[in-house]
Amino acid sequence: MSKGFVSLVGAGPGDPGLLTVKGMQRLQSAEVVLYDRLLDPALLDYVPTSAERVYVGKEAARHALSQGEINQLLVARGLAGKRVVRLKGGDPFVFGRGGEELEALHQAGVAFEVVPGVTSSIAAAAYAGIPITHRSHASSFTVVTGHEDPTKPDSSLQWEHLAPGTGTLVFLMGVENLEGIVTRLLQHGRAPETPVALVRRGTWADQEVLTGTLADIARQVAGRDFPSPAVIVVGEVVRLRDAFRWWDARPLFGKRVVVTRAREQASELAAQLSTLGAEIIEAPAIHIAKPASFEALDAAIAGLAAYGWVVFTSANGVTGLFGRLQALGADARRLGVARVAAVGPGTTAALNARGIRPDYVPERALTAAVAEGLIAQGVSGQRILLPRTDIVGEDLAGELTAAGATVDQVVAYRTLSPDTLEPEVEALLRSGEVDVITFASASTVRNLCALLGDDAAAVIGRSTVATIGPITSQVARELGVRVDAEATDHTVPGLVEAVLQHAAGQALAASRS
Ligand code: SAH
Repeated sequence: MSKGFVSLVGAGPGDPGLLTVKGMQRLQSAEVVLYDRLLDPALLDYVPTSAERVYVGKEAARHALSQGEINQLLVARGLAGKRVVRLKGGDPFVFGRGGEELEALHQAGVAFEVVPGVTSSIAAAAYAGIPITHRSHASSFTVVTGHEDPTKPDSSLQWEHLAPGTGTLVFLMGVENLEGIVTRLLQHGRAPETPVALVRRGTWADQEVLTGTLADIARQVAGRDFPSPAVIVVGEVVRLRDAFRWWDARPLFGKRVVVTRAREQASELAAQLSTLGAEIIEAPAIHIAKPASFEALDAAIAGLAAYGWVVFTSANGVTGLFGRLQALGADARRLGVARVAAVGPGTTAALNARGIRPDYVPERALTAAVAEGLIAQGVSGQRILLPRTDIVGEDLAGELTAAGATVDQVVAYRTLSPDTLEPEVEALLRSGEVDVITFASASTVRNLCALLGDDAAAVIGRSTVATIGPITSQVARELGVRVDAEATDHTVPGLVEAVLQHAAGQALAASRS
């Protein structure tokens, strides 16, 4: 029997990119995962689907499992011979009760390891543009629990040692006791003009930062809702935020953007938008499926070399055709001397990944431009293969046929509509809590409208609508959907640019009003 083993893994403060490589590897080979609240669900995507996942909660008021129960469960799964990951927010030993969990494992004789994590005490400050130390401003930092009421006589903190000096102080779990903390610091000698920052949901897309001084921060917070988790950073280094602010200074920070592309395809658009600061909500309005039958595609593949041109109007077409080639035990050489055209950069990249450089790519990524370009080269008498989706597209085949070509259209993939939207996503859309909806194809507009039902246009109209190009915009307008931004370059980066420009325009308008 294999021996059980428990990895105590720090998940980092929020941004899933702050998980360590070792932490990721442990998740990938886990058989059991016990995880806290406040973790990005994306972290659990690393966990094999066969693994047992246990949410152990820990909300201030309502513990899903008590600490004792968590310890027991860790020991039980360890003794049962499992590879267990105990995934904890931030670093496991910074007020994380990791020590208690190890004690229980140690006593039970279960083997363990610790994979440290990025702690919020340093990272939340860093994402607020506050370096925890700085040669000219602070040469030490102290991480303090703010959990106990500092004005109680039995406070275990030695305020007379903590308060004086210039070192940075970071309080965790302290917002509810902010007033008491400030009082104690002032009483024991920190200057009232010492800058203070409260960083809430640090490293997340909805990070919030409030700055002030020891003299006025409590008053500022009293006037607003500032729920946990938040760190309180006290010290001269806080002033550097004015110059070093970066995470929440990105152009799409604070914008919630819906990506309607198929999940398999969404990553590039999502990654580019999120690098610019947007919070991404995936609402796939299409999914890509294999053809219902491979008969036509297989026949086309058998005669591939006889075509003068093979024209790809999407990366999915490339994946569909080459996926099938591979399944048949063949490879790209089947193309023989057939020339290859691609509609734009995404399709070209998909071809490049298979070792093929297209012979023709139009300047503008539109099917109409492909037709024009090929016809200009002369297609009369040529056989052309169009591997495409099952739904009716634009009349590329018609134009090429009219120019004298013999065109075979074969279904290389199907574009299907999902049956439903995720309820949370639909709720966000309906309540107008989405800033921008992006459409990278006409079918995503059609399907999202169908999924939302009768009042689709009104619901979509609560957000800014950005499309990849004129065909998508036209379909949107036909369905009563207002289009606010349209990409000039009909590519994913072009769509990102359209979102960015629209946001910049809004920001400018807001600053003028
Ligand atoms: N082990 C964790 C801390 C656990 S205590 C770590 O190393 O980060 C929980 C407290 O951490 C919260 O009350 C809050 O003060 C702080 N915290 C955790 N995540 C945070 C975040 N993303 N932004 C700000 N504070 C955070």
